[in-house]
Amino acid sequence: MTQAALRAVRARLATDPVVRAAITAYLALGANLGEAQATVRWAMAAIAALPGCALGACSSLYRTAPVDSSGPDYINAVVEISTTLCAPDLLAQLHGLEQQAGRVRPYRNAPRTLDLDILLYGSAKIHSPKLTIPHPRMMERAFVLMPLAEIAPSLVPAAQLLLVAEQACQRL
Ligand code: AMP
Repeated sequence: MTQAALRAVRARLATDPVVRAAITAYLALGANLGEAQATVRWAMAAIAALPGCALGACSSLYRTAPVDSSGPDYINAVVEISTTLCAPDLLAQLHGLEQQAGRVRPYRNAPRTLDLDILLYGSAKIHSPKLTIPHPRMMERAFVLMPLAEIAPSLVPAAQLLLVAEQACQRL
């Protein structure tokens, strides 16, 4: 292959979402309005169908009291995906699914039909106005750490799980 052809391939790999190397990411799912369990299961299937995304391990569903929020108990879960989307594109796709599930944002931390967060995106550290990765509050929340530990135990230090043990979080 000539140097010019090699440069062209490298440029395409860097910009084309179809051929970019797949990244393992972890997503948090939550719902506390409407048919929350059905919505979370629907979201898992919808994530699997997103362009450039393949669904990996899915945690059980968990029932948790609202943390920094209000309304009925939440149904939470965590899934692993393999994705060729860049992190901002992945977030945009997740916001699209929140919209499809009827999400409205009347005020900060309002009850919601569906909340989708990116917990981890490979080993990336991102601090932009729209995206912080790793998710800044993931290590404080039993409803994230318990399902994450179920599918990826090496990512959750045992000491961290102990610190959130008093938060009510029931595996269904
Ligand atoms: P939420 O109310 O949980 O849907 O999140 C509100 C905003 O948080 C979103 O519009 C995102 O721009 C921002 N955000 C920052 N970091 C993240 C992340 N890691 N995952 C999802 N949303 C994030």
